[in-house]
Amino acid sequence: MSVPLELFPDTTRVTLANTLAVGGCDLVDLAARFGTPLYVYDAATVLARAGAYREALRASYPGRATVCYAGKAYLAPWLLSLLAPEGLGLDVVSAGELLVAGRAGFPRERIYFHGNNKGEDELNTAIEAGIGRIVVDNLDEIALLGRVASRGARQQVLLRLGPGVEVRTHAHLTTGAPDTKFGLDIQSGAAEVGVRAILAQPSLELRGFHAHIGSQITDIKPYRESIERVFAFAAAMREKTGFTMTEMSPGGGYPVRYSPTDPKVDPLAMVREVAAAIVAAAKKHAFDLPEITIEPGRSIIASAGVAVYRVGSVKKASRIYVAVDGGMADNIRPTAYDARYTAALASRVEDGGQTDVAIAGKYCETGDILIQKVTLPLPRVGDLIAVPVSGAYQLAMASNYNMAARPAVVVVADADATLVHARETFEDLVARA
Ligand code: PLP
Repeated sequence: MSVPLELFPDTTRVTLANTLAVGGCDLVDLAARFGTPLYVYDAATVLARAGAYREALRASYPGRATVCYAGKAYLAPWLLSLLAPEGLGLDVVSAGELLVAGRAGFPRERIYFHGNNKGEDELNTAIEAGIGRIVVDNLDEIALLGRVASRGARQQVLLRLGPGVEVRTHAHLTTGAPDTKFGLDIQSGAAEVGVRAILAQPSLELRGFHAHIGSQITDIKPYRESIERVFAFAAAMREKTGFTMTEMSPGGGYPVRYSPTDPKVDPLAMVREVAAAIVAAAKKHAFDLPEITIEPGRSIIASAGVAVYRVGSVKKASRIYVAVDGGMADNIRPTAYDARYTAALASRVEDGGQTDVAIAGKYCETGDILIQKVTLPLPRVGDLIAVPVSGAYQLAMASNYNMAARPAVVVVADADATLVHARETFEDLVARA
């Protein structure tokens, strides 16, 4: 198998020394300088993905529209300072994420606050920060927010709907099915109760509806179904309560390819279809075009990131286990979601030979296998393994399992590497032990 360069950041090259370079920086040099495991983000790839989403939406939706990056995929001030000038908005799901956005100076009016159990302190933080919208999830939250917001200006909100749409993806990644912890279900009447509850709160101003149906969605059909259900519901609410929807969001969930065997789906084509579905539904249900937000997380940041590990042992058993110095503490996705990755040998990209190996993590779980099977030149102790598409939901979910220190993070651009997150130290770990 040749190196799947198309899965790596856009600037990835094989050097004359047969090593892998990203953003003009040789991964071998970066590993020597910053240690491993190391997460390397390519600024050019982030900007390319963000710009492509913004332009696809601008070209396909005639109304007001914003691409809101879903910060849960990976959040850091350096990233927000790249995305804000590009005109993107931001979805946050906790006061912690909100504070990171505040520290980065992200425009507060472009921030949307999601989550199915926002605490009173978190709602207070959001209101004090004066953020754009709070996406309310349930009746208890409506009552709580009504109280909290009454201390200040009227808060604009969207209501998260459960559209009852099934999506073909991993069970942990579906959020719009009839049985889900997120939002208020349309079918059962819960969503209508929610609308009436918001309208009864003088401190809240309902602007519209939100429905995120899941992640890694490769089929446009569930988006279309969900959009139609949201508009049909909005039309019914207009009829029954007089409330007219002026904003809506069909969520995020656009797919990325993690391995060469994943299907090739163009997320920008899906964005264009989503926009067309909203235009059609607005016409069908006699709404002016609402202001919309789409919320890609993974598909903006995943392919910009590469995880770099050093090989510590190569063991021949029923298969060849190549053990690296990271694993489920920095990437829980293979264990939690059966996620499949590929890899390249960054320190000896091609050497003629090719062998099937498993890439094993270093943590004390049999399930800590980063990659079940990948074909590489046979790795040796000291070699570097580079795992592409590592930018989303890895560091964001990283833990200190086995008292592991969280990895260092560097951003590369124009042959320059900036350390944006120092590796945790043992002092950090001991201080919290
Ligand atoms: N919007 C909401 C409300 C979400 O819950 C999520 C992910 O869980 C996203 C957007 C982003 O999804 P993805 O990273 O798959 O695009």
